[in-house]
Amino acid sequence: MRCLKRLIIFFMLIDNWVMQALKKIFPTKFKIKGQCKKCGQCCAEILLKMSPTQINNNFFRNLCIRWLSWLYDFYLLRVDFDKGYLAFSCKHRGGDGCCQNYAWRPPICRNYPLLDYFDEPGFIPGCGFWADKTLKTL
Ligand code: SF4
Ligand code: SF4
Repeated sequence: MRCLKRLIIFFMLIDNWVMQALKKIFPTKFKIKGQCKKCGQCCAEILLKMSPTQINNNFFRNLCIRWLSWLYDFYLLRVDFDKGYLAFSCKHRGGDGCCQNYAWRPPICRNYPLLDYFDEPGFIPGCGFWADKTLKTL
């Protein structure tokens, strides 16, 4: 099972590297500045956004929860139907807040803080990163 998980994550990482390379060629409006303070807050509570249709569909919501729990070793903290997200934490988060699975951490972890083409990046309070608007526009 562990080999299967790693194989799936390996293909996801290749896809992620391609996406990150494309973002370098076609930069977003924002640039991430600062550095990680290794506080571990971003792993304590991981929020995954869902559309109202997705979160209200029992089959789809439960499938997502089971898939992410199995593949990433996340565990569900709560489902927020009003704001439309699943809140997870992670079994790989060490007592010191550091990742115990750093080499095999999934794309969602590698991509925080997320640089998006349409939305301004969001940051956890106290995070060592921030965003600067670049002069380049799409
Ligand atoms: S919240 Fe920010 S500073 Fe803290 S561990 Fe995550 S990325 Fe690093
Ligand atoms: S895999 Fe590592 S980086 Fe990702 S949420 Fe878990 S502890 Fe954090």
